[in-house]
Amino acid sequence: MDRDSRFDIIIAGAGAAGLTLLWYILQSPSLRSKQILILDKSMHPVNDKTWCYWESNQLKLTPFIHHSWSELEVGAIGDSFSQKLETYSYNCIRNGDYTKHILSKAKKFNNITLLETGIQHFESIDDLGVVKTDAGTFKAPFIFQSVLKPPDFEESKVDISLLQHFIGWEIETQTEIFNPDKAVFMDFNVKQHDGVTFMYVLPMSKNSALIEYTLFSENLLDEVEYEQAIKVYLSDRYQLEAGKYKIIRKEKGAIPMEDRQFSSWYCKNVMNVGTVGGLTKPTTGYTFTRIHQQSKTIIAALEEGQKPPEIKASSYRFRVYDMMLLHILDSDPEISLKIFHDLFKRNKFDSILRFLEEKSNLFQELSIFSSLPYTPFFKSIYKMKHRIFTGA
Ligand SMILES: Cc1cc2nc3c(=O)[nH]c(=O)nc-3n(C[C@H](O)[C@H](O)[C@H](O)COP(=O)(O)OP(=O)(O)OC[C@H]3O[C@@H](n4cnc5c(N)ncnc54)[C@H](O)[C@@H]3O)c2cc1C
Repeated sequence: MDRDSRFDIIIAGAGAAGLTLLWYILQSPSLRSKQILILDKSMHPVNDKTWCYWESNQLKLTPFIHHSWSELEVGAIGDSFSQKLETYSYNCIRNGDYTKHILSKAKKFNNITLLETGIQHFESIDDLGVVKTDAGTFKAPFIFQSVLKPPDFEESKVDISLLQHFIGWEIETQTEIFNPDKAVFMDFNVKQHDGVTFMYVLPMSKNSALIEYTLFSENLLDEVEYEQAIKVYLSDRYQLEAGKYKIIRKEKGAIPMEDRQFSSWYCKNVMNVGTVGGLTKPTTGYTFTRIHQQSKTIIAALEEGQKPPEIKASSYRFRVYDMMLLHILDSDPEISLKIFHDLFKRNKFDSILRFLEEKSNLFQELSIFSSLPYTPFFKSIYKMKHRIFTGA
C-alpha cells in the first residue's frame, strides 16, 4: 500500500458525518477530482438507524427522504397537542439508503478509494495527518474523523452526563390504524419510572410505523424493559395486541446528552466531525442537520485552499440554555414534564423547532421562556453558575 498511501483528503468513518462530507465533496467541481480515501470497518448498507430532521428544503435531500410528516403531536400530563407545521417538514432518512446512494456515486470516480478496515490511531507528522489502520498507514494534509473520541475527551469539563436511550420496533399491522401524515414527536403520557420517558411514533404508512420507547437518564435498561413498554403502548393507544402486528425491524441507540465542550481538532491535521466532534445537541440528541452545516463549512474552506475553521456546535447563549435544561432533566423529571407540556401547549411548533435548531433570536427565545415555569430555570442557573459564568 506504500505507493498509494498519500491522499489529498482522508475521511475516516463512513457514517452520517463521513458520508455527508463525501456527498458535498462529490458536488464540488474543485474537490471531487482530488485523491480521496474513505475508511470504515464496514461500508455495507444496512437500515438500522433512522435519521430524522426538520427543515424547509434548504438541504436538498429529497432523493434520500424515506418519509415526511406535515403534522406533529406531543402528549404530556394527560394532554395531547397536535399542530400542522407551516415552515418546516419533519423528514426521515434511513442510514442504509444514505450509504448506498452516496457510496454508489463515489464508486464512479477512479480517484476515490473506499477501504474497509479497522481504524486504530491518528497523529500529525511533518504537517500531514496520519491514520493507522489494520490495512496500513495513510497520510493526507487533512483527515476528517468520526471514529475515535478526541484525546482530551476524558479531561474535558462535564457536570451532567445523561443518555438518550431507546429501542424501537418497526411494525406492520393487519388493519390501517396510523396517520402517515402525522408523527408523534414525544408522548410523555407513559409511566415515568426511570427518568423522563416518552414514546416516539413515526408512521410510514397507514399500516406500518416505527415506535420507540425513549428515556433521558444515566443508565440503560434491560432490553426486555423497553420492549415491554412498547407492547403496553401498542395495546393502550392502538388496541394492538400481540398477533395483530408483525415486527419487521428493530432499532436501538444511546446518544450522549452532556454539557461537554469538544475540540474541533484531534491533532493538527485531523479534524473531529459528527458525534465525536461534539455536534450532538445535548438536550435533544439531534445531530443530522448540524452534520450538514459542519460539512458545508469544511467544504467552503477546502475550496478556498484554507484549513477548516474551529467549529463550535452552539453559541454561548444556546450552550447556556442547554445546560439549564439538562440540569432540570437530570434533577427534576416531574418539572421537566411540566416544561414540555407548557412549551408545546403555549407555542407554535414551528417556533419551538426553530429554537431547537438554534435559529431563533433573543426576542423569540424570551417569548418562549416567558411561557414556561421560570423558577426551575433560575435554580438551574444558580446550580450551574460555575459553568455559565466561566464561559460555559
Ligand atoms: C439509532 C440512532 C438513531 C438516531 N437518530 C437520529 C435522528 O433521528 N436525528 C438526528 O439528528 N440524529 C440521530 N442520531 C444521532 C446521530 O445523528 C447519529 O448517531 C449519527 O449516525 C452520527 O453520525 P457520525 O458520523 O458521527 O457517527 P456514525 O454514523 O456512528 O459513524 C461512525 C462510523 O465510524 C465507523 N467506525 C467506528 N469505529 C471504527 C473503527 N475502529 N474502525 C473503522 N470504522 C469505525 C462506524 O462503522 C461508523 O460507520 C441517532 C443515533 C442513533 C444511534
